[in-house]
Amino acid sequence: MDYEHALGADADVVKRIFPDGVARLWGSTPTQQTGNAKAVALRDRKVGDEVLFYAQNTFIARARILGLLHNRDLAAAVWGVDEETQSTWEHIMALGDVVEFQVSAQPILTALAMTPPLRSLTLVRAAERRRHLRLLDEQVPATAKRPSGEGGTATSARTMGRGELLRALGTLEADVPGERRTHHGSLTLLWAIGRLVSGEDRLASADVYRSQLEPMLEEFSAPGVSVSLEYPFRHLSGSGLWDVVATEWRRPDPLSSAAFVESGAQAGLRREAARLLQQPLARAEAIGLLCTTYFENVDQEALLERVGLGGYAHATGAGEGDGERDGRDVPTRPNGRRQVTSSRPDRDQRLVNRVKLLHQHRCQVCGLRLETRFGHYSEAAHIKGLGSPHDGPDTLSNLLCLCPNHHVQFDTLAIFIDEHWNVRRSKDGQAVGPLRRLPEHAIDEQNVEYHRALCGGSRYSAARN
Ligand SMILES: [Zn+2]
Repeated sequence: MDYEHALGADADVVKRIFPDGVARLWGSTPTQQTGNAKAVALRDRKVGDEVLFYAQNTFIARARILGLLHNRDLAAAVWGVDEETQSTWEHIMALGDVVEFQVSAQPILTALAMTPPLRSLTLVRAAERRRHLRLLDEQVPATAKRPSGEGGTATSARTMGRGELLRALGTLEADVPGERRTHHGSLTLLWAIGRLVSGEDRLASADVYRSQLEPMLEEFSAPGVSVSLEYPFRHLSGSGLWDVVATEWRRPDPLSSAAFVESGAQAGLRREAARLLQQPLARAEAIGLLCTTYFENVDQEALLERVGLGGYAHATGAGEGDGERDGRDVPTRPNGRRQVTSSRPDRDQRLVNRVKLLHQHRCQVCGLRLETRFGHYSEAAHIKGLGSPHDGPDTLSNLLCLCPNHHVQFDTLAIFIDEHWNVRRSKDGQAVGPLRRLPEHAIDEQNVEYHRALCGGSRYSAARN
């Protein structure tokens, strides 16, 4: 804490609210008057109230008050003192996550019976908060939506569910016209997930983004699309998935990403999102959803490889490719690349034979029994791949009996099995047909769910259920 010396009696409360040592503070100068809006706001504001940041008739961000300090030394240390008036921003608010959006201010102010603010901040009472959040929700584009948190301190921050994570991932750039979408936000998120998987810090500085992310954005962007730090340091913070934090106690200017960058700010996945993405299924879902939603026309295998998530491009995972094909013809991928062949996990050949015999070599997707001169031919496919990072089990309940065509489609994540055992195309969710099942061959639904996650199958669940 650079300003620890100035905290004085407030040290405990500030450390409790911001255990990371990174604080979001906003100060106000004192007023001599007693009846004006500012005096009333300073007097009446409480922890739990919400602050709306205001500029040019637009609300641009909101944050909840987590703590109130009156500390002139701290304000002087952080922001300095006005030379003329000798005043400083001594009425300090400790703020929760700043959520950015852009909403015309007037309808909100009218609905809450507030006068147009003259200042850059508008205060909303805790009691009115639910109502104003609903009003905001009606006006804020889907990308900036973020369900309200309950609980007034950082330690009681609400947990984020898988559904919320997927909704947020699925609605990036929803308010941007199609031709102007850069997919830089989704690329940045994929890159961040790759960092998470390789055990790197959740937050990264502008230097890291410049040296690592920017070249990648250039590589995977359409020609002529300019690359900047606007995504990691500005646009993504409205997604509900992303944190931008000042490393020094400077007043963040919510209008400018450059200011964040210059102040040595760091950005990365929100702690709650990062925690969820540590779970294998949620991570598979997130990666599958990002790939199928935003990168249809991109070489996803190359992209995932680039961000350190190569194993997620294929149902079998890394290292299992050739063996999965039962030692027979190894398919060359559509893009000409061959799969990794080294150190494939051992698979139990007896289980492979058993699943084929149970189904008498009949494909569980299309029913085909492929004839050869030497009898029928089928292949055994692991549902949750044995290779890394999937690490599926080598069991009968994790195997399917497929024809070679459907085996290729299943492994390349082109088809998945939905919650009702229908086979669907990942591209558009279109039904291929019911999976053919046998009573004596139980299939583990968790493995099916995992494979579906890799295929981005969650995109179609909501619409059907
Ligand atoms: Zn088939």
